Amino acid sequence: MPNHAQRLEFPNPLPHIRAPRGENPGIVAGYFRDQAEANRGAAKAKMAKKLFIKSYGCQMNVYDSGRMADVLTPLGYESVDAPEAADMVILNTCHIREKAAEKVYSELGRLKQMKADKDDMIIAVAGCVAQAEGQEILNRAPVVDMVFGPQSYHRLPDMIAKLEGGAKNILDTDFPVEDKFDALPKVGGAGKGKGAPAAFLTVQEGCDKFCTFCVVPYTRGAEFSRPVEKVLAEARALAESGTREVTLLGQNVNAYHGEAAGGATWGLAELITALADIEGLDRIRYTTSHPRDMDDALIAAHGDVEKLMPYLHLPVQAGSDKVLKAMNRQHTADGYRALVTRIRAARPDLAMSSDFIVGFPGETDEDFEQTLQLVRDIGYAQCFSFKYSPRPGTPGADMKDQVPEDVKAERLARLQALLNEQAASFHASMVGRELDVLFEKPGRHEGQIIGRSPYLQAVHAKAPASLIGQIGRVRIIKAKTNSLEGELIAPGVREVA
Ligand code: SF4
Repeated sequence: MPNHAQRLEFPNPLPHIRAPRGENPGIVAGYFRDQAEANRGAAKAKMAKKLFIKSYGCQMNVYDSGRMADVLTPLGYESVDAPEAADMVILNTCHIREKAAEKVYSELGRLKQMKADKDDMIIAVAGCVAQAEGQEILNRAPVVDMVFGPQSYHRLPDMIAKLEGGAKNILDTDFPVEDKFDALPKVGGAGKGKGAPAAFLTVQEGCDKFCTFCVVPYTRGAEFSRPVEKVLAEARALAESGTREVTLLGQNVNAYHGEAAGGATWGLAELITALADIEGLDRIRYTTSHPRDMDDALIAAHGDVEKLMPYLHLPVQAGSDKVLKAMNRQHTADGYRALVTRIRAARPDLAMSSDFIVGFPGETDEDFEQTLQLVRDIGYAQCFSFKYSPRPGTPGADMKDQVPEDVKAERLARLQALLNEQAASFHASMVGRELDVLFEKPGRHEGQIIGRSPYLQAVHAKAPASLIGQIGRVRIIKAKTNSLEGELIAPGVREVA
């Protein structure tokens, strides 16, 4: 087993280098520096270990994967794009989707083949499947070296040290008392890489709502909000590194109640208002929210805070009160309608997004029709919809009246047809409009770059790559299925309401 925890140590190159005679001391110093850099690069190339993290599921996992990479950077790990090239592979798993655990086991089967050719490869399973399955993963897949949950990945260096000490099949799915965020490196990669134009920032974790279909309260634990100052410090660091947009993350982000100076407790609206004062940070988003936690201050913030983008993911899941009750959603369909009306009164151009589950136990044709009606009433820009699939350990899994698969499939197809129609119509309504676009990366075609509109749509435009990281004004000329095409009018324009 190689020494995976070994830190990079560079030999002092200076004794081996002599300055060319008669050289200007400044040039000599530069020469020494260059040589030192070259030697450091060579040492790093020789000693760096390769890390591949496969992230499944939600943005929280993308953020966590970025933070795992941050934790491992001081140990000499650098990211690669393929598991074949890696010394360590981490599967950062999600338990929301159907057959999540089975998919992880089949991926582990592939990794086992790779490890057969590369004995010192470390294989780890992280995330919600790791939290839920725990020891079972090690029993079924002994090739796995480490299993750890979303609350313990900051202990990766300790786990690696234990592996080096000869330990095998390490399991850490505790909910430790120490603050994970305190133990993480101070400037976060925040999921999309340091200095990325748009970054994630976790402000809240866990959930106390216990919807009957959901494993999150079991895998991520009780609600926890990061203290205000720590969130602001991370946001400032991101802004200083070039990030222009942050998406505040939490399983139930609008339940945020962070400790502020003087013993006060801030809600999400106060946090957003303070973040909006950070120089260089031009856009703020948040996800995922629960209708019960949209308080008056947060609704008002949608009208008052110019930097808060006019796009809200507010899952409703179903349009039937009977089904919502069975889901323990703690809101009604009409309550949701009224809430959206209030938020749109504060921000009239607000684009809405939601999650839907069809075929929850006991859902009748009439219940499903009520879901379709709610979709028609709200009018969504973009949604995520799934067939219900039971999660072991959740109350929904034991409910009677499970809906047959063919009925779920037929309902899902009808729902998605309606949602796709609404999404297409929302996209089409952008043609001819001028939008501010935060450019994030090069496009697939020569001379093209891609960014996001205020409504989170992908926008392609012909523009120089130097505009990546800036907000430009774009006239939309075409709506495609999943993106918009536009012409750049003016680069570097700041967001306007
Ligand atoms: S509010 Fe969201 S995270 Fe919490 S239990 Fe319900 S679906 Fe899961």
